[in-house]
Amino acid sequence: EKIKFNRRKQPSVTEFVEKILSGDITFLSRAITLVESTNPKHQQKANEILDACLPHANNSTRIGITGVPGVGKSTFIEAFGKYLTSLGKKVAVLAVDPSSSINKGSILGDKTRMEQLVTDENAFIRPSPSGTSLGGVAQKTRESIILCEAAGYNTIIIETVGVGQSETAVHSMVDFFLLLKLAGAGDELQGIKRGIIEMADAIVINKADGDNTKNAKIAKIEFNRALHLYPPKENGWTPKVMVASALENKGIDAIYSMIDEYITDNKRELFFDKKRNNQNKFWLLETINQKLKDNFYNDPKIKELLNNEFSELEEGKTTPFSAASRLLEVSKNKKKV
Ligand code: GDP
Repeated sequence: EKIKFNRRKQPSVTEFVEKILSGDITFLSRAITLVESTNPKHQQKANEILDACLPHANNSTRIGITGVPGVGKSTFIEAFGKYLTSLGKKVAVLAVDPSSSINKGSILGDKTRMEQLVTDENAFIRPSPSGTSLGGVAQKTRESIILCEAAGYNTIIIETVGVGQSETAVHSMVDFFLLLKLAGAGDELQGIKRGIIEMADAIVINKADGDNTKNAKIAKIEFNRALHLYPPKENGWTPKVMVASALENKGIDAIYSMIDEYITDNKRELFFDKKRNNQNKFWLLETINQKLKDNFYNDPKIKELLNNEFSELEEGKTTPFSAASRLLEVSKNKKKV
């Protein structure tokens, strides 16, 4: 399969763009592969495609979904996605899973997930790009969002796991951020990270079915109480708590109505554009930071000098601060010549 792909002649940028705009999934996938490539030629082509697609992007609702493994993310996204396509929407599901590059195995799992959504012609599912850093993975995902939107997907779902900084990255690329939780035995609020509560626009207590129904309702009350201790967000929104059973398809429509209402209100009050603009500025700075760091650390001369400075440090001959100044100075002077 891969060999066949490589042997095929690369279509032109114009051809890529035309096909993507016509909703061609094969070309969309191939363009995302270019975005994800580390080959500079592919990246150059990807950038040209992205520039041409940009005027056709943006017209979507971007929803982030997070939660610990086992909480029911893929089951929920499948139920939610099927509901959205039944409303005539086109749904793209992307993922941000930096773990796949760290432990060589992804937490979010593989293609066996979301079996029904995979076969839905109005759904497009793409696993997490791999990368050496979360910044890299997140940037590729942001670029893929643009391609999906240009291909006519008007609802973009970005899935991530409750691990490390990936939630922060996804939060800064979506319009609405949903946290999936499970009801426990009254200790719901323990083990919930403060930051994540502040990021969530809604908490959905999943697996509210069977014997768990009552616990889910109790958890809902407790989460609501906890969320009211936080000030409302800048747009006046207080995060909502809802219960759902992804497995039994319960509560899915209510969750969509809530998000839809949120988006409509935010568009009317102009918070929607403001948030996206701020996100774009954030990503511009992030990309520069990333590039600067990559250029610095990938420089062979710096690599060598860095090792020397490590030795000097170990021998107590220098301080971290003067070592850093020297390295930065070298990098600065190299650029001048
Ligand atoms: P993920 O790791 O967060 O993607 O979780 P999965 O969607 O793979 O679900 C983990 C397990 O929980 C699976 O066995 C699902 O069938 C089950 N599950 C997911 N949602 C529900 C639900 O609403 N109710 C019940 N009872 N089980 C669920």
